[in-house]
Amino acid sequence: MPPVVPQPARLTRQELEAGKTPAGGYNRRQLALWGIPWPPPKGWQQQLLGDTEGRPQAEPGGRIVMRARGESTCAGCQQVIVPGEWISLDSLGEWVHRTCLPG
Ligand SMILES: [Zn+2]
Repeated sequence: MPPVVPQPARLTRQELEAGKTPAGGYNRRQLALWGIPWPPPKGWQQQLLGDTEGRPQAEPGGRIVMRARGESTCAGCQQVIVPGEWISLDSLGEWVHRTCLPG
């Protein structure tokens, strides 16, 4: 079994996109709905998406991904996983580069 418990992002990218104004920005009222103070702190979008701190998140389709926190070896291509790279779990529960997963 994988050693991590999957945690879905608090907002999906689609939900974040849907909250934009016609001008392509965000207004104070929308951010308040998401619990973001005004002026919004740096990195608030990543905070909502849950992809900071190397926290696992679910992609559409249910695949679990996260950013690697430390150096490791990919169970797929056997190459080094560099901290900050996107990784995912293969069918055996091993961490691999997201790009090394079939599909
Ligand atoms: Zn790989």
